[in-house]
Amino acid sequence: MAVTALCQGEGCRTGHTGGRARRRTTDGSRLCRSCAEHLTAGLAELAHLYEECGRVLGGAAPGSLRERTSGGELPGLPFNGAAADVRARMVSVLGSWSGLVAQERGLTPPPRTVAALTAFLGRNAAWLAAHAAAGEASGEIARLVRAGRRAAFPDPARSIRLGDCPESGCSGALTLAVRAGARADAPAIVCAADAAHRWTSDQWSALSRSMDSAREGGAPAAAATERWLTAADIAQLWQTPTGTVYRLASEGRWRRRNRAGRTYYNESDVRDCFARRAAART
Ligand SMILES: [Zn+2]
Ligand SMILES: [Zn+2]
Repeated sequence: MAVTALCQGEGCRTGHTGGRARRRTTDGSRLCRSCAEHLTAGLAELAHLYEECGRVLGGAAPGSLRERTSGGELPGLPFNGAAADVRARMVSVLGSWSGLVAQERGLTPPPRTVAALTAFLGRNAAWLAAHAAAGEASGEIARLVRAGRRAAFPDPARSIRLGDCPESGCSGALTLAVRAGARADAPAIVCAADAAHRWTSDQWSALSRSMDSAREGGAPAAAATERWLTAADIAQLWQTPTGTVYRLASEGRWRRRNRAGRTYYNESDVRDCFARRAAART
C-alpha cells in the first residue's frame, strides 16, 4: 500500500502551485512530483548561477558596474557584494546538505565545489526528497536559486547612468549604485573610469548642477541627457522617506515615464523641487 502524505516542498508551502492546496506525495517521498522536480532543477541551475555570479565578480558581466570600473576593490557596491555573498552561501548550504547525505548514506563526501556538490545532491535527490528534512532542503535550495538569479542578473535599473564624470580630463560615466539601507555617507555615485571619483548621495544636487553647467559650457554638441530615477533612487539621493517622494511627485507633477512596470521621474524636476524646499528652509 502506498503511503501518501502532504507535500512539504517549497512550491506547495508557498502556494506557488496556482492557489491549490498542497499536493499529496507517494512512495515515501515528502515532496510531490512537482516540488521534487524543482529541487533537481534548482540544483542544476545553481551550478550555472555560481558561474554567472563569478562572471559578475570577475568583470565579464555585460552592463555590470564592475566591468566598467578600473582600480581596486569598491566597498559597498551592490552587485559585487551580492554575488560574492551568494557564492559563499551556495558552498556553505550545498556543503551542509551533501555532508548530511554522505554521512547518513555512508558515501564519500564530494569536493566542496559547487559543481561537485550540486552533482552529488542531484544523484541523491530522490533520497533527499524522502528525508525528514526534505522540506527544509527544498526551501533552502529554492532561496539560493532566487538569490543567485538576483546576484547574477541584477536589475539593470539599479545601476543608473547619471552622465559624464565632471572631474576635469575624465571621460568616465557616472553611475548611481543604489543599495538598500545604505548609510548617507556611503559612496553612492561612482565614476567608471577612476575609482577615486566618487561622491556620496548628499553631494548629488551640487554635482548634478555642475555636470549640467559643464555640459552647457564645454560641449555644445552634446545633447542634454535626461535622467530618470525611481522613487527609491530619489529617496536615497535626497535622503528622503519614499512616502514623501511619492507625495512630492504628485504635488509637483514631476514628469514621469514607465518602463518595465516601474515609474521613473524626471531628475531635473526632482532636483528643482528639492532645491526649492532647501531654499524655503533657510
Ligand atoms: Zn509540492
Ligand atoms: Zn571620473
